[in-house]
Amino acid sequence: MAGDQTVEPQNLPARALYYGLQPAILLAVIGVWLTQPTNPTLFVGCVLAVQLVLGVLEHLYPARGEWRLSGKQRSSSIVLVLILFFVAGAVGDFYTQVLDPFLSGLREQLGVHIWPHHWPLLAQMFTVFFLNELLWYWVHRAEHQWSVVWRFSGHGAHHAFQKLGALNFGLNHPLEYFFLLLPAALLELIFGIGAPALGASLLLVSQASIAHCNVAMNSRVIGWLFTTNQYHICHHSLDLAESNTNFGCAAIVWDRVFGTFSDSRAVAVGSGPNEPSTWHKLIMPIKEYEVSDIAPAARR
Ligand SMILES: [Zn+2]
Repeated sequence: MAGDQTVEPQNLPARALYYGLQPAILLAVIGVWLTQPTNPTLFVGCVLAVQLVLGVLEHLYPARGEWRLSGKQRSSSIVLVLILFFVAGAVGDFYTQVLDPFLSGLREQLGVHIWPHHWPLLAQMFTVFFLNELLWYWVHRAEHQWSVVWRFSGHGAHHAFQKLGALNFGLNHPLEYFFLLLPAALLELIFGIGAPALGASLLLVSQASIAHCNVAMNSRVIGWLFTTNQYHICHHSLDLAESNTNFGCAAIVWDRVFGTFSDSRAVAVGSGPNEPSTWHKLIMPIKEYEVSDIAPAARR
């Protein structure tokens, strides 16, 4: 099928990417993180490296040629992602300042120190990763279930893009960062996890970048537990039924557990007939752009 992320390419470099890209990136970021598990600079460097690799590959071997960004489009997306990176940092600081005094005090009072700090670092990291994704699964499902959550989170802005690529991992409404970061903030502040949480965040961001990426990849083995771009692009479908599947942006296992997994291949993505401007995406919490095919209000 034309425009299918899962069609096996014919030339050798693209075939190597098809089978090896996702596991190679995940192994690389985990391996680099293990060298300095508490280094936040390394985290930023890894995210930039993953984005650079995926951006170059999308340009050389796009799964859907019509999604290839022009230089101007890519530049403006990069500027937006950088601005939103600082928004995310401010939201993280807000959660720390607002929730930390309450939750860490509560943890001390109740004597809740149940996090298995004695486990191997990798086991702790994957535990945080899948717990984080379990919480995000329900937050994300609530965004698609109820109009008030959809509007207040600005989630429609993330779905409004009609071309997807690795940069879309960070193209969220500023308000949505309160939703996106809530699972990680709660887990860290309740359990006092430390370094494994930083590794889990790196895996989450890497997976979210891959999930939006416009490069053909095989999804069969790794896709039992982890979200692939085929599964996540299905979630971005213009078709309402398809968009109400695959809520896990980094781990797909919870969709399998809770019955929302889909193996479909989206033909078109977005939220309506036209893609809104950046300004219209920004005001989506107070004014939906045109008629949305996938907003909760569109349910019949
Ligand atoms: Zn969504």
